[in-house]
Amino acid sequence: MTDAAIATPTQATTKYRKDYQPPTHLVDTLELEFDLAEEHTRVRSRMTLRENPARSDAGGELVLDGEALELVSVTVDGEKISDDRYQVGEETLTLTGLPTECVLEIEVVIEPQENTCFEGLYRSGPMFLTQCEAEGFRRITYFLDRPCVMARYTTTIRAERAAYPVLLSNGNLVDSGEDSDGRHWARWEDPFPKPSYLFALVAGDLHLHPGSFTTASGREVELRIYVEHLHADKCEHAMKCVMSAMRWDEETFGLEYDLDLYMIAATDKFNMGAMENKGLNIFNSALVLARPDTATDSDYERIEGVIGHEYFHNWTGNRVTCMDWFQLTLKEGLTVFRDQQFTADMTSHAVKRISDVRMLRAFQFPQDAGPMAHPIRPESYQEMSNFYTSTVYDKGAEVIRMYHTLLGAEGFRKGMDLYFERHDGSAVTCDDFRAAMGDANERDLLQFERWYLQAGTPVLEVEDSYDSETKRRTFTFTQSTPPTPGQDEKLPLHIPIVFGLIGPDGCDLPLRLVGEETAQGTTRTIELFEATQSVTFEDVPEGCVPSYLRGFSAPVELRCERTHGEYAFAMANDSDSFNRWEAGQQFAMELLVGMVEAIGRGEEPVLDPIFIEAWGVVLLDQELDPSLVSLALALPVEPYLSERFEVLDPGHVHEALEAAIVQLAEAHAEALREVRARCSTGEPYSADRESIGRRRLANLCLSYLSKLGEAGDLAACVAQFEGADNMTDSVAALACLSDVAGPEREGAFTSFYERWKDESLVVDKWFSQQAASDLPDTVERLVELVKHPDFTLKNPNRARSVLGVFGMGNAHHFHRVDGAGYRFLTDHLIEMDSLNPQVASRFITPLLKWKSLEPVRRELMRAELERIAAKDDLSKDVREKVSKALA
Ligand SMILES: [Zn+2]
Repeated sequence: MTDAAIATPTQATTKYRKDYQPPTHLVDTLELEFDLAEEHTRVRSRMTLRENPARSDAGGELVLDGEALELVSVTVDGEKISDDRYQVGEETLTLTGLPTECVLEIEVVIEPQENTCFEGLYRSGPMFLTQCEAEGFRRITYFLDRPCVMARYTTTIRAERAAYPVLLSNGNLVDSGEDSDGRHWARWEDPFPKPSYLFALVAGDLHLHPGSFTTASGREVELRIYVEHLHADKCEHAMKCVMSAMRWDEETFGLEYDLDLYMIAATDKFNMGAMENKGLNIFNSALVLARPDTATDSDYERIEGVIGHEYFHNWTGNRVTCMDWFQLTLKEGLTVFRDQQFTADMTSHAVKRISDVRMLRAFQFPQDAGPMAHPIRPESYQEMSNFYTSTVYDKGAEVIRMYHTLLGAEGFRKGMDLYFERHDGSAVTCDDFRAAMGDANERDLLQFERWYLQAGTPVLEVEDSYDSETKRRTFTFTQSTPPTPGQDEKLPLHIPIVFGLIGPDGCDLPLRLVGEETAQGTTRTIELFEATQSVTFEDVPEGCVPSYLRGFSAPVELRCERTHGEYAFAMANDSDSFNRWEAGQQFAMELLVGMVEAIGRGEEPVLDPIFIEAWGVVLLDQELDPSLVSLALALPVEPYLSERFEVLDPGHVHEALEAAIVQLAEAHAEALREVRARCSTGEPYSADRESIGRRRLANLCLSYLSKLGEAGDLAACVAQFEGADNMTDSVAALACLSDVAGPEREGAFTSFYERWKDESLVVDKWFSQQAASDLPDTVERLVELVKHPDFTLKNPNRARSVLGVFGMGNAHHFHRVDGAGYRFLTDHLIEMDSLNPQVASRFITPLLKWKSLEPVRRELMRAELERIAAKDDLSKDVREKVSKALA
């Protein structure tokens, strides 16, 4: 028996997309039998196998994947086979001399209670559960663990009845019974063929929260959410989200649920957010459990998005799956796009779009400019887990959104219909999706493939010229994509530019291209194919302001010359709410870059008065949705701003942002207090959109005010913290107090902990607010904090609440100039790597971009990377990233 935690070999091998070969064998049915016990678990599998007609070279040899398994026996057609016909390797079981069709039975023993990497079968609190995507099934039994091998599963689970009354797997429960000595069993059958990564098992003593849904065609579906008993009162929101997701997919895409039962089980220990296993989704409890006093408005919204996401996978991912893991974006990009549209329909399109673009710029743009840059469909990987990235998911969703923009909602739907008509029940590629979109709309999308082939964020430059005689205005677009590791030369992309012209009166101009008889609308999509391309419009009066990339129609960086007056004009007048917000962001970016440069020259950073004034106008605009106002008042995120510098001094970037915040707060202190008072109605908590928007804006005002250091504002924080009847207000006040040393801060953290110490997810918030703190001795405080009895690296959420938040969300202290922040993260990352490589590998992200830093920090960060590289038995997850960063 090999210990699960050290079974991962450190020898890195690279897999390439071009090397794909169909499997040598196909599996029609797989029967699994689990005997769950505290010491070890016995897994018997029985598969009906046949040689794949697409592979004539199999020659009776079959190589199965397997890791950390103890092999007990192998039989073929009921006969034990001799030792010389099978060979156990470190990650394989090779069988020879197989007939072209046979029944293969394998028995193995595993130790799920010792599994700390949380891939395969493992324990979490009162339950056993599984996580198989991408390659976890091979830690359960030997199998062709690849997504293109799809089989019908029957799963029998046996366990002690008292400790594990609930026994679940995919599909429908077909039989159950009692064994002797207090054990019982349940048999589940999944009628839909599926790849092994969608297998799931849950066994434990769990509370059932029931629900039901009637599909559009009138079928009754039973809904069940399983949680630990103490969370029985936190399931209602998630249940509502399941129902609205089911309804939305019927209405938007005509897609109905296909089984009689849909289950969700929540666990505190989970590496990812959630997993779409057929009929039995497994969720990180942070994305299921919510009660107004324990979860924030953002938690509520995230839960809705992720519940939708996993549910939507039932069609985009499960019914049509990926041929190999390089195609991951086929299911993830598409499903993220679907969950974004769902949330937008449930809340506000503008708010959702802006929030998503902020995230894209905070995480994906930096990734595209770093050592791990890869196309949305990677060409190679060493460890697949490393490619569950913002690029594959979020940029992938942007690429899907561009089909939607180019083809229109109706054309996109036609493409989706054709995609399902052609591929339901099979494992396909991103090219198949693109072909369905193109064929259904009779469009040539050949050049569009480059979005799947090239890494890096494209830069789009615009120049325009105006002829006052002819009243013609010409826009010349030039695109280029910077080099990324392994890709020096890039080809021009097919880019949809949704475009408008705002007239001097603030209204959109009807747009007529040269050669057209009449104007055709006020917003038009310009399709860019060439490296440089021009368009000319007729009848354009003087003084129009162009509006490029409305709704952020392509994931590119726009470069165009604008005066401060034009920015302010667009902030007030653009008919596209995204671009109204964007004008403010780009204006702020330009000013902040100037302030960072001023700091570098030893000058005072001063914010432009035009911006301060325009900001104040937005603050007081009572016509706008308060959620939109709060997004408009937030300055660009630190990672996005940092990308603008070839040589980055993170200290200067932070100083500039802080200075801008203080100057805005000083200029508008009274207005901020007023708006906050207007938005804090004092009414009891309600979760409607209006109230959420008001809380968001009130808390944004509070966070600006808390930077002024005034006793009155501090008292307001304390009062809000003590009087809040909901977690949103409570944690927002705590976040403000967290940056202010003194008895108020200590008192708040102590009482928060005392009140919530039995609620693990709330304790995570307690840790993360400290990890995000801006006190001068934050690193020293964190060194002490991780000695707290509630801190453990064995719970991924808890580890993330300190190490993830510190590395990704506290740039100021992470980049401390003496290297203490780098050292702190590295110490724990090394420890984490031995327990849970997948999660450790996520924590390393902020340490990778050392080459762009100023010389002092550059050397300090590189030294930490080398310390990680020198670790014995470093996981291949972390090794892949470290070696690419140091290359
Ligand atoms: Zn997904």
